[in-house]
Amino acid sequence: MKSLYSRIVVTFVLIALFSGVVALFGVNLYYQKSLKSYNEQKIFNIAKEIRSLYGQSGPIEMRTYFSRIADMGFQLYTVDERMEGTFYGAPFKRSDIDPSVVRRVQAGETYVPTSKFVTGLFENTIRHSVGIPFQANGQTYALFVRPNMELQFGEVRILAGLLLAGTFLLSLVFIFVFTRYIVKPVEKLTAATTAIVDGEYDIALDVQRRDEIGNLARHFSSMAQALHKLDDMRQEFVSSVSHEIQSPLTSIQGFAQAVRNEPLTSEERNRYLEIIEEESRRLSSLGKQLLTLASLDKEADIVKKSAYRLDEQLRQVVLLTEWQRHEKEVFVELNAPEMMITADRQLLNQVWLNLLTNGIKFSDPGQTIRIDVSVNQAVTVTVSDQGIGIPDTELDHIFERFYKADKARNRTRSGSGLGLSIAKKIVQLHGGTIEAQSRLGEGAAFIVRLPHL
Ligand code: ADP
Repeated sequence: MKSLYSRIVVTFVLIALFSGVVALFGVNLYYQKSLKSYNEQKIFNIAKEIRSLYGQSGPIEMRTYFSRIADMGFQLYTVDERMEGTFYGAPFKRSDIDPSVVRRVQAGETYVPTSKFVTGLFENTIRHSVGIPFQANGQTYALFVRPNMELQFGEVRILAGLLLAGTFLLSLVFIFVFTRYIVKPVEKLTAATTAIVDGEYDIALDVQRRDEIGNLARHFSSMAQALHKLDDMRQEFVSSVSHEIQSPLTSIQGFAQAVRNEPLTSEERNRYLEIIEEESRRLSSLGKQLLTLASLDKEADIVKKSAYRLDEQLRQVVLLTEWQRHEKEVFVELNAPEMMITADRQLLNQVWLNLLTNGIKFSDPGQTIRIDVSVNQAVTVTVSDQGIGIPDTELDHIFERFYKADKARNRTRSGSGLGLSIAKKIVQLHGGTIEAQSRLGEGAAFIVRLPHL
């Protein structure tokens, strides 16, 4: 596997090299377009100056003259008519030159180098010199002149070279060091992922950074927290389910044993069997509720909407609870105008039934439960009772799964603590909201708002 680190390093180095090459070509283009002719003209002028200065300050031997000129930072090469050449100053690296060029220069032409590349400027060869004819000692020489770069800018060249090499090497070092700095958080994130897979959620990431990596670390941390919470919830859910299953099973076991082993009156036996029946019913309804929750959580397209009369649905739900109400002597007042709604009929049935049975369960005999429906931007259904109410501290929790408010007061009222969470989930799947308002001892109101389509 190629590591991110080596990838970034190689990329940076390639970029540096590539930029160098591109810059070289750019400089070359600039040299060809603007500098080359200027430079040649300059050397050509110097060569002419060398020629015209010869002998002006009194008679001087040609060799001595050229040696002095060479000492001033030039490289010279003269060829006499017998094609014999003499060098002055630092030796040329390559001293070959086409004899026909020499002849042409001796015949009066000037020679300018034809290099295509900027490096020709530094090439220490006769071919990269300027050639002009030169008269002395009664014969015509070909005189080739080029500035002695080594002598003129030797130190500058070394400095420029050092600067370039230093910049490149230093950038290499920085690339190696800073790539670590970029890659380190990614490695940390990878380690954090592995830790989460192993169930360890307390991970320390650098969330202070103000860049994309810091952003990623922040999102990652909140994701880890969410996962942690989810994991906790799952564990809590499993233990709640086990607990909810365990307690009816224990009582079924106990009463079944009593019925089998103990001498009982027929009244006692009947009561015990009733309890067994009741607990089995509770278990069965718990199973159904869990299945409902599971499918509400899992299936994205569980909501099958159709248009139907909401007022009629509520009336049917009221009828369905008639037996329960009758037993407890609780009354229902329904205030619903005739109206159509587009929703999942079966799921909403469950919502109304849960709210109404809760109302009945937590009301005292003789009290009345009101169901009011109003329509403005949303369809609002309010189920309110005059029962025991819910303490403020518990209002926020009653929609949580398995939450049973004030267990001491609830002991006699059977329930799994799932009804409201199911109702909330269904309302949310319809794009609506559900809220509870209550004053302890004065009853509770559940307000469901559904978008009016
Ligand atoms: P359960 O099946 O236990 O009724 P729910 O999810 O329906 O579960 O309700 C959760 C808790 O909210 C109940 O245990 C109860 O304490 C409280 N609650 C719900 N409805 C009412 C109400 N109408 N009056 C008072 N308390 C209520």
